[in-house]
Amino acid sequence: MVRELKIHNNLTRKKEVFEPIEAGKVKFYSCGPTTYDFLHIGNARALVVGDLFNRVLKAFGFEVTFVRNYTDVDDKIIDRAKELNRDPIEHAALFVKECEKDMNSLGMMPATFTPKVSETMPEIIQMIQDIIKNGSGYVVDGEVLFNVPTFSEYGKLSKKDLDSLQHGIRVEVDSKKKHPSDFVLWKPAKAGEPSWESPWGKGRPGWHIECSAMAKKFLGPTLDLHHGGVDLMFPHHENEIAQSEAANKCPFCHNWAHNEFLNFGSEKMSKSLGNVIKIRDFVEKFGGQVLRHVLLSVHYRARLEWSDEVIQRALDEVKRIHEFVDESKDYKSIGPGPCDSEIEKCVEKMTDELSNDFNSAGALGHYFSFLRYVKSIKDQLSEASLRQVHQTNKFLADATGLINKEPKTVLEQLLKNDQDTSQIDIDAAWIEQLLEERKVAKASKNWGRADEIRNELTAKKIVLKDNPDGSTSWKIQS
Ligand code: AMP
Ligand code: ZN
Repeated sequence: MVRELKIHNNLTRKKEVFEPIEAGKVKFYSCGPTTYDFLHIGNARALVVGDLFNRVLKAFGFEVTFVRNYTDVDDKIIDRAKELNRDPIEHAALFVKECEKDMNSLGMMPATFTPKVSETMPEIIQMIQDIIKNGSGYVVDGEVLFNVPTFSEYGKLSKKDLDSLQHGIRVEVDSKKKHPSDFVLWKPAKAGEPSWESPWGKGRPGWHIECSAMAKKFLGPTLDLHHGGVDLMFPHHENEIAQSEAANKCPFCHNWAHNEFLNFGSEKMSKSLGNVIKIRDFVEKFGGQVLRHVLLSVHYRARLEWSDEVIQRALDEVKRIHEFVDESKDYKSIGPGPCDSEIEKCVEKMTDELSNDFNSAGALGHYFSFLRYVKSIKDQLSEASLRQVHQTNKFLADATGLINKEPKTVLEQLLKNDQDTSQIDIDAAWIEQLLEERKVAKASKNWGRADEIRNELTAKKIVLKDNPDGSTSWKIQS
């Protein structure tokens, strides 16, 4: 028997009882990272949320087939490899390895399959052929495009309609597209770029088709659950639906869940904005346990604003949890007797929270009440109560991964870095305030103060760039 679970389904914009196609079995796909650089803690949010879904479903008794891909063929990879004078496929392979190291540090449960684009070419080509055969794809000069108006349900996930989309798109004069919303399925090879033989000549896939092809390869034509960051809902997920449903002639996925952003200084943390903290820099300082804790201490659908307070709270809570798990190993029972009802109820309460759209924050709240209570009666625990204390710790560990290492290892790392929060705990609001002050100083020709501010930020490894329009942007030195 599996436990009932409700998921906020973005297809219907409603919280619904989760009913997989085959009772007790879940086909779950999550869009994974593009492997061109080290992952940042925004990417970590998407990874840890995917891991939470996988863990909760398993803890609730579902048999889960979980696919999380690597995008190892992409413009960003090609550009970066060119800069480094490296082969793009080798460059991507190197960063798949680096991503795996980061994921291990975050205590991720392995996915069932972790396919790469470069290893899925026959399935991608086959799917494009099916799309063309079914009247939704067309070929122009070695390029294959998806003809959006042929798919009448386009926009059903992002709730955009084709007319309003058309207004927002600038049509290039020499466009090969039949409709401005059409998107690329296959692009012809350019010199020096990785390419594969296809019925349309040598080339490589567009971005969206990989997920449709990988999902079908490992999970079949219809999935139970699909996840990704909220930025992927449009166009990526909308296009995945169009491709899969045009090719397979059946529904692609019944439930869509998206995690909100990790924000840094009121903006999305992203490599293109330069406001990123690498997973490994954070982990080196505080450990993966603290990062996972930050990410799961808010609901996945709520924005998470990165701040000193958020880190400090996670540091305190991780310490309390791991001290408790460590000391409770040595608790002695007073002998036979019934299980204390407060202790007995905790797993059920955490389960209720997790069954309510994966509310990890709510589950954590109940765990802390339990922790306080157990500590207050630790000398009066019956055998049954003590067993339940250990089982509760194990439930938190299995269902959320918030305990995934030896408590002593985690506590040692916390102790080592207790005092040193420099560089990682960069406060974006503080930076913006200094930049504003620097602007005023420069306007009043107070060059001394302007330089002082620049130096203060440089000492924190914040690099400033004065733009031609008079504004100043900043990024963390890599
Ligand atoms: P990318 O490598 O940019 O394709 O992103 C991989 C995954 O990380 C996607 O699911 C993105 O939505 C997610 N992601 C990227 N930046 C953030 C962020 N700041 N907050 C939350 N998720 C993010
Ligand atoms: Zn995807």
